[in-house]
Amino acid sequence: MNRREWMTLSGTTLAVRRAVQAQPPSSPTRGSQAASGGLPLEQYQPKSMLHVPETHVPRSRFPVIDFHTHITGVSRRDPNRIQFGMDPSNCLAVMDRKNIRTMVDVTGGYGDGLREALAKLSEAHPGRFIVFTEPAWTRASEPSYAKLQAGLIEDAHKAGARGLKILKTLGLYLRDPGTNKLVRIDDPRFDPMWDTAGALKMPVAIHISDPEAFFLPIDRFNERWEELHAHPSWSFHGKDFPGNRDLQEARRNVMRRHPRTQFVCLHVANAEDLPYVSECMDSHPNMNVDIAARIGELGRQPRMSRKFFDKYQDRIVFGTDASADSNTPQQIFGDALYEIYYRFLETEDEYFDYAPAPIPPQGRWRISGIGLPEQILRKVYRDNAARLIGLGLDAG
Ligand SMILES: [Zn+2]
Repeated sequence: MNRREWMTLSGTTLAVRRAVQAQPPSSPTRGSQAASGGLPLEQYQPKSMLHVPETHVPRSRFPVIDFHTHITGVSRRDPNRIQFGMDPSNCLAVMDRKNIRTMVDVTGGYGDGLREALAKLSEAHPGRFIVFTEPAWTRASEPSYAKLQAGLIEDAHKAGARGLKILKTLGLYLRDPGTNKLVRIDDPRFDPMWDTAGALKMPVAIHISDPEAFFLPIDRFNERWEELHAHPSWSFHGKDFPGNRDLQEARRNVMRRHPRTQFVCLHVANAEDLPYVSECMDSHPNMNVDIAARIGELGRQPRMSRKFFDKYQDRIVFGTDASADSNTPQQIFGDALYEIYYRFLETEDEYFDYAPAPIPPQGRWRISGIGLPEQILRKVYRDNAARLIGLGLDAG
């Protein structure tokens, strides 16, 4: 259910109001509701009264590789097929306006689907699109899976795939049919897959876990209450889900066991806990991060983030997680999305929106820019990703 549907469902709104009214009289929720004249939270769109510089950054200072986009996705009906969520010619128009040299379509699937993505993207527009492959999750419980999956990675590489994408399926959704138990991220059946990717110099773009608030109760103390209320299925609180740190540590086991494989931990690995991410980066030289869909987190701790970019400037890549999914306004592909990222990276503007949306979708706060110097910008925008993917820097 998206935000608009939620707002128009009066039954849901009533249920929320009743829950609020059920609070004891001393509760701060009830007091603030009375003071606001009953303004429902979902209608509250405060405008900042700060008089601060607003820099418009229509184009990036240097050409960009967007390392993390979803132009295609594996078909729900047939995992051997893909669907296009975005039209390549529309992508190219935005890319030209925004100074994006290359978009990496991470969810290229495998088999026939992958071949279609390669034909319509990287083969039709050389240098402008790169396609990654994905594991055949539906076959993960077959007895010969370990070998079979390594073979599929080799086939994908031969066909033209340049990296491997792991969705958070691993760790949070993939279950063994016999026991119905979640498959561990560091399960040995994946070892040949990680090794093959490393041997073929295919970086592994790996999304593990989710924001910490998704592992906590959806209550008035949860800083992402609105987002979780609109999308209850995004919560991993309770049931048999491992904790956020357990998932992170399982990924560390994988990076430790496969030192010759380059891992790009998506969404800054765990953007809310940069001290922990730094500790991981220090102990695993094969660990890199992208910043996709997490400038909301980085930009609300701009001083800590700036230090992080200084220290790990050779291992951070630009990514947005751009897609056509209206459930995630912080990721909707288009000019507005890129302008916010550029403003965050290039300026020292303060207190601006991290998403092109009337209400901050990942939590009610705003961000400040980190004003990176040119030599770091160049690496983050393009050079680090080019090195990981194996693109010549002079290739245009
Ligand atoms: Zn993504």
